[in-house]
Amino acid sequence: MKASQQARLKLRCPISLGREPRISIPEGWFELVYELCAQIEDVAQQVNKKPRQRMFLPRVAVIEVNHGRLHCEVINRNKDIAHIVRKAQFRSVQRCMFCGEHGHQFRHSGGLVSCCARHRSEHCL
Ligand SMILES: [Zn+2]
Repeated sequence: MKASQQARLKLRCPISLGREPRISIPEGWFELVYELCAQIEDVAQQVNKKPRQRMFLPRVAVIEVNHGRLHCEVINRNKDIAHIVRKAQFRSVQRCMFCGEHGHQFRHSGGLVSCCARHRSEHCL
């Protein structure tokens, strides 16, 4: 992830990304991850308005790739966040990791990757 992208994410998500999360994602998934974090942030902002719940603010801990699929760990996740994360995981297997175009999951050296037809042939998957 580029420094400018990281700055954009942090600016949009001051609460949910406020605890130095480990974010390690391929280029093609930035928009997907941005949207994921923005949705988690919106939930966090709602929680932040309720004084008694403030100690349970949702915080992103990890976002990474796991077998061609987005993996996201959130501390204090509630039902809404679980749903948001599941949706993003579902979308990630249909996004090329390299360019963000529509893609599919393919087997590659014992694991799985998600990418478009062009990148599949370029990387000989
Ligand atoms: Zn591609």
